[in-house]
Amino acid sequence: MNGSCHCGAVKFTYFGQPERLVVCNCSICRRLGPLWAHGPEGKIVVDAAPDATIAYVWGDKSLAFNTCKTCGCTTHWKGVGPSTPQNMALNMRLCDPDDIADIPVRRFDGADTWAFLD
Ligand SMILES: [Zn+2]
Repeated sequence: MNGSCHCGAVKFTYFGQPERLVVCNCSICRRLGPLWAHGPEGKIVVDAAPDATIAYVWGDKSLAFNTCKTCGCTTHWKGVGPSTPQNMALNMRLCDPDDIADIPVRRFDGADTWAFLD
């Protein structure tokens, strides 16, 4: 499955089809509103120039949220701390809506319990 930011500077591929897409209510996700597909690096490839995105890292500095510098779309996050070096997720709202229409969406309580709410 392929996605890109609005201007096309950042493109990504998810190999296969994710089992689910995740809506999270944590402090950053509730503001950005992405639909995440998680996967280890390797299942996910991001194709962008090194300076095409802004990486936003905060709190315990375990995740970097990447946003296109040109068009402002949040494209993916990537684990940068010792506990999450291999983890990534793509914002599947950047895919063709028809491609993601049949994938179940689950609500994740990233704000509190770190469990699914549904
Ligand atoms: Zn862009």
